[in-house]
Amino acid sequence: MTLSVGDGALLEWESPLFREAVGQFDRVAELIDLDPNLHERLRVPQRALTVTFPFRHDDYMSVETVFGYRVQHVLSMGPTKGGLRFAADVNLGEVAALAMLMTWKCAIVGLPFGGAKGGVRVEPLELTRAEKQRVTRRYTMEIINFIGPDRDIPAPDMGTDEQVMAWLMDTYSTHVGHSEPAVVTGKPPALGGSVARREATGRGLVSLLPMAAQNRGMELENAKVVVHGFGNVGRYAALAAQQLGARVVAVSDVKGGIYRDAGLDVESLFAWTDEHQFLEGYPQVDEVSNEELFELDCDVLIPAAVGGAINKSNADRIKASLILEGANGPTTADADDILAANNVFVVPDILGNAGGVTVSYFEWVQDLQNYFWSESEIVGRLREIMNRAFSEVLDVAVRENVDLRTAALIKGIRRVTQAKLARGIYP
Ligand code: NAD
Repeated sequence: MTLSVGDGALLEWESPLFREAVGQFDRVAELIDLDPNLHERLRVPQRALTVTFPFRHDDYMSVETVFGYRVQHVLSMGPTKGGLRFAADVNLGEVAALAMLMTWKCAIVGLPFGGAKGGVRVEPLELTRAEKQRVTRRYTMEIINFIGPDRDIPAPDMGTDEQVMAWLMDTYSTHVGHSEPAVVTGKPPALGGSVARREATGRGLVSLLPMAAQNRGMELENAKVVVHGFGNVGRYAALAAQQLGARVVAVSDVKGGIYRDAGLDVESLFAWTDEHQFLEGYPQVDEVSNEELFELDCDVLIPAAVGGAINKSNADRIKASLILEGANGPTTADADDILAANNVFVVPDILGNAGGVTVSYFEWVQDLQNYFWSESEIVGRLREIMNRAFSEVLDVAVRENVDLRTAALIKGIRRVTQAKLARGIYP
């Protein structure tokens, strides 16, 4: 391998998260002695589309030029699959990194997809509903030849939700001339969305908690849980943890966190945030900042907001002995080293949050067959896939004497490289 992170070949994708993702891949590729041709091939995405488009604000006076991206990392495994993010700072490198992580994630849980990701550089909290709809529809038009049920299937991610997926599906369907629910997942059930998709990522993550706790010799009853981020992933992770008998002592959102040592009532937090949007103002709790949240006394920490939240500035002060990663890329490589030195057990993102894409896969299959499953079937199959993936990754970790993140990457990378070798090179 002559390429190194940061060299000319990677200039297009330059961003902290892309460096992290490639750095991680390089480390594991060397560890498993990966064929250098495959190593070089998989460091960069196969396709990346950057679009810009005009977006008219509600006042009809100002027109903004908005940047959008869709990146497909590997097309050898089947259609590509990955979320769509609306964020003020999203960029091509970040989207490319997340597409790569999606490739490994799908391979770890055995789904027939390569990884993809999308992004639109807007601040979702500043958009009205009508503005969000216009941005979604125009972005969809700009990438319409790139996506499709057999090509690339978007899903919700940060700043997007069921409603955004519904607009995306409607725009695509209008242009192809027939209803095409399988073009996106994470839709409302009324449009062919799957029951239990909304809860899937948080629920899937926490379905691993009993096995992870057992591994640490931790009693789950009353175990103290802290959750960073109270959006789609964080809120359902908090709820599932509470349902397992754990005590959710703190949660936070972009504005800050709330803490109660006796435990928060997660269902009432749902009601509060549904009405007030943010956690602030919730009664009879102590306020904590997002920085303080990571230092709270707890057993389990669930980062479920942004990438890079656990880094060298706070890793050493984390008291939890178990981290379940709900967000994508929440822990930087140097923080990983600190956590390992402090004997913190980390269930990595590419394994932990795979429940979302797993139920998205169920949704896609149901849409293609026009045959819908019951909630209990979906929850049962999700649990089975998550538990099997966890056991298989743990086996690799024990056999190869590596941490869970490295083991998960070994498993995912091996599956993808086997497929690529079997397909060969055209022409
Ligand atoms: P979301 O937009 O529904 O919620 C994000 C939450 O994080 C909100 O509570 C927001 O206020 C909070 N937040 C945003 N910036 C923050 C900051 N700087 N500090 C603290 N809190 C902040 O997003 P989501 O779908 O829950 O996704 C959260 C993470 O999980 C992302 O990293 C995403 O890529 C990852 N993820 C999501 C899914 C899914 O199915 N939605 C699947 C896999 C991974």
